[in-house]
Amino acid sequence: MEIDEQNAPALEVATTFAELGLAPPILRALEEMGYKTPTPIQKQAIPLVVAGRDLMAQAQTGTGKTAAFALPLLQKILPHANTSASPARHPVRALVLAPTRELALQVHESVEAYSKHLPLRSTVVFGGVDMKPQEAALKAGVEILVATPGRLLDHAGSKVVQLSQVQFLVLDEADRMLDMGFLPDLKRILDLLPKQRQTLLFSATFDDSIVGLARSFLQNPLKVEVARKNTAAETVEQVVHKVQEDDKLDALVRVVKARDIPQALVFTRTKIAADKLGRRLQKRGIATGIIHGDKAQIERLAALDGFKQGKVRLLVATDIAARGIDIAELPCVINYELPYSPEDYVHRIGRTGRAGASGLAVSLVAPEEERLLAGIERFIKRDLQAVPLPVIAPPPMTQTPSLAGTPASPVARSPAPSFGRRRQEPVCALLRPPVRAEPPSQP
Ligand code: AMP
Repeated sequence: MEIDEQNAPALEVATTFAELGLAPPILRALEEMGYKTPTPIQKQAIPLVVAGRDLMAQAQTGTGKTAAFALPLLQKILPHANTSASPARHPVRALVLAPTRELALQVHESVEAYSKHLPLRSTVVFGGVDMKPQEAALKAGVEILVATPGRLLDHAGSKVVQLSQVQFLVLDEADRMLDMGFLPDLKRILDLLPKQRQTLLFSATFDDSIVGLARSFLQNPLKVEVARKNTAAETVEQVVHKVQEDDKLDALVRVVKARDIPQALVFTRTKIAADKLGRRLQKRGIATGIIHGDKAQIERLAALDGFKQGKVRLLVATDIAARGIDIAELPCVINYELPYSPEDYVHRIGRTGRAGASGLAVSLVAPEEERLLAGIERFIKRDLQAVPLPVIAPPPMTQTPSLAGTPASPVARSPAPSFGRRRQEPVCALLRPPVRAEPPSQP
């Protein structure tokens, strides 16, 4: 945690949402959602936003960053809440920009849930779907608008939405917006907003380009940081298996079966690889969804819904498509292919081990990916020792043979699994066994 030297207010004092000064209808919504205590980024950011400060927040998805900006925004817009039917009484007061449709949808879902008991309106607009329903919602008036940049500009261009009363701007996953080439769009959007406003910039990483963005878009911002720079989520167990490229499909199926992984997000580098892997897994009889940028929006949402409902066991995704996807208690991510950028590795494994829960990240590394692995290790400042692939445990025997006196062999046994799991616990962490190591002859 780091705060701008010239502004170092006492932080982390509040331990409950009520102590953060949020209004009772917001507290009620949080209670209904099962939020008990604020996460570190929420403790840090909420008082600062309520106090009116611009913020540069370094926080990954999974830290509770959405509530960290959405809750104080709702609190601040609250005095304007009204039940009038007139669109003029519901100008856009808060604009949240997100890089992907999935993230925009998710942020909007959260905003809706947090504002459930408030007479505030919100909507979400993103590309790839019909403009008309979005236009209708915008024309009716909304206080909180969540949008991807391109589609917002389309609506602004056709004068369906007016942004001259925006008091709050949030740039969510700003690093990804820059990666995706949204800077010109962001600049055009900024030109449509009042100069007098509060701006919050959230980003998983803070390199020079983000700092440059902050300098031009924010005023005297405070910096808050909850995850140490470039550090992979500490709650995630990271496992590396070295396998030949051609053996990866078998290895993946074996990992999923041996560890009895109920659900996992599986990453490939390219859309083509995602399609191919998804089809091959389906052929193997594993319920698999595919999500990437070339899929129609309706297909992406269907795959995501299927996954969220537990109908889909493996969701194969590319980095951009998976970015920001929030799936409660996702137990595992599997890197079928390592990403070219170590930052993407950190983002990927950040899909699991959320909000303090433990998670598992398995990487299948082919010889030609060794250099990528070395780059990741340097980036996260940690050695990722390769371990042999697990073997599928035989069905339980009716009589337990005594293992006493069994000579030492390369076939190591992991400690016995505990199946008395509590409901809240992520499944993977508890199903690490039944796993036995294979002889080290494995490449
Ligand atoms: P985010 O980082 O905003 O994507 O949030 C990650 C997940 O944590 C989401 O499922 C949120 O609903 C959940 N979450 C956020 N804040 C809290 C909290 N204070 N207590 C429990 N869950 C939370």
